[in-house]
Amino acid sequence: MTTFIEQLPARWEISQLFATPGRINMLREGVITLVGVKRLESEALFVSSEGGGTLRETAKVTFAGKERYWWLARKVAGVMRRVMLAELNVQGCTVDVPCINCMVCGLLGGLNTTTNQALASRVKLQDLISVEEYEYDEKFRVRQPDDPNITHPTPFQEVIVPPGTRFPFIVRIVKPSRFDVGAFLYANRIADGLGYGNYSKLRGDASTHWLAIFDGFAHVSACDLLTDGDDIEVRTKALADAPPGPVNKANTLAGETLEELVREWTSGKEAWGGESGSA
Ligand SMILES: [Zn+2]
Repeated sequence: MTTFIEQLPARWEISQLFATPGRINMLREGVITLVGVKRLESEALFVSSEGGGTLRETAKVTFAGKERYWWLARKVAGVMRRVMLAELNVQGCTVDVPCINCMVCGLLGGLNTTTNQALASRVKLQDLISVEEYEYDEKFRVRQPDDPNITHPTPFQEVIVPPGTRFPFIVRIVKPSRFDVGAFLYANRIADGLGYGNYSKLRGDASTHWLAIFDGFAHVSACDLLTDGDDIEVRTKALADAPPGPVNKANTLAGETLEELVREWTSGKEAWGGESGSA
């Protein structure tokens, strides 16, 4: 079965993207909405600011009636960009100095202050807010000194996000090509395995279970999924059956069809054109 994703244009050239710079009109250019659940497989620490002292505390936010763990979208985007640059073997472009001339910049956007060129990101991530309630659980730990002349380990405390914590993961890709969707799904899977933790000891590796891909701007928010209990899989399934917003409903991907596509597109780059035409 051929899905609407497989019928998207193969890929955009940078020159085509510069023809529509700046703000993108989502309804005119087209957009797809991906909804999934990210589950932490190991401890993570998502700090929003580095404080002084010996306590490191993961970020939290009050949302839909509870305190919850808070995982900033730009941290996910940063790891994903690094993975994409490596996997697509892009030269002359880095996370810190995006070239605005490669396929990764074409998808994730960026600003180059030397050439003064900019592209808007066509991947729109929402901040990740946990299904599970935040729990203040201070863990007492010690760091062994790097310097062999110092014999005392340094004590410190951490409040981490425990493994098993789930986060609705809502992503929109504007003006999507087959390459864009494939590169995103592929890089997401690799980033999940590498982890998003701030410190190497706290790997923060994750898994993503994709529940639906909508052809259009589905009006789905973390608030919709987090209000009324914690069974977000069931709620997403209900949304997939009757998606709100300007969506081509007949094209909605869910269940076995979606799982098969994700399996195929995350196991090799050939399926979505990541092997040909490297910059
Ligand atoms: Zn680039």
